[in-house]
Amino acid sequence: MSKELFDKISESISNDHPSFRVSYKNESRLMRLLALLAYPFNESFAEGYITTLSSTVYFPSRADVEENYEHAADVLAHEGVHIFDDEKHSPWFKISYALNQLALLPLIVLYAVLGSWIPVVALAGGIVGSYLALAMAKVATKSRAVRRGTFFTLAGLSVVAYVGLSVWLSGWWTFLAVGAFLPLAPVSSLLRAKWEYRGYSMGIAIRFWTHGVVSDGFLSNRVPTFTGPDYYFMDRNADRVLKKLKAFRDSVVNGSILIGANARPYQRTLDVYKKLGLVKAA
Ligand SMILES: [Zn+2]
Repeated sequence: MSKELFDKISESISNDHPSFRVSYKNESRLMRLLALLAYPFNESFAEGYITTLSSTVYFPSRADVEENYEHAADVLAHEGVHIFDDEKHSPWFKISYALNQLALLPLIVLYAVLGSWIPVVALAGGIVGSYLALAMAKVATKSRAVRRGTFFTLAGLSVVAYVGLSVWLSGWWTFLAVGAFLPLAPVSSLLRAKWEYRGYSMGIAIRFWTHGVVSDGFLSNRVPTFTGPDYYFMDRNADRVLKKLKAFRDSVVNGSILIGANARPYQRTLDVYKKLGLVKAA
């Protein structure tokens, strides 16, 4: 039954979004590259996370899906919300999802123009070098501490060189050189959170349809996902997160989540669960 559930959810997304694909990180070159870039900050990007880019959902591996089809189906339904939102609100979905951190780029360009481009080139070169050293360390040693230590030592030196060169070459513009990195501060990204509330509402909805009830505990368990590092602290206010999740639970229980222009992903998922006879309440 669970494999059938996974296949039917997959099919329901395909029907709405013909470009939708399921893929696997351990079979994708692009994902291997992203895993290397993420490694210093998140060692388990490749094995522990499902990633969606445009309309392709990358699971860690085929074995990972086969191990727990029901969970994979649940995740797929969640990602189906993002695929719908991405298509409907393009390019705003992608921009708003990454806006807090993306603001770094125009600020760095502004500094390069007004201050000096030399520190920027030095920093970019230093970061590329840090990743090359990380790639070599990954071949040379199994020790995670050594790998991360290599990367962060070199990356740290690159930052020191960047600030030093900036003070030397651009004087007061150093405040802009340093300030450009403020967007990387772990402050709430409420625009990203807005999309993820819709994504996690799918999990709440599935829970309600299949169990007839969604406990407060089920919602509380989701709070750290919003307040913690999983999505880079997208909503740090735990009280607000719980309140919002409860409001989404209300919209699931009273059925309003199934009404309106943005309801399509929930409707099609409910249809699948109904067809397979898995619905206790709706
Ligand atoms: Zn999501």
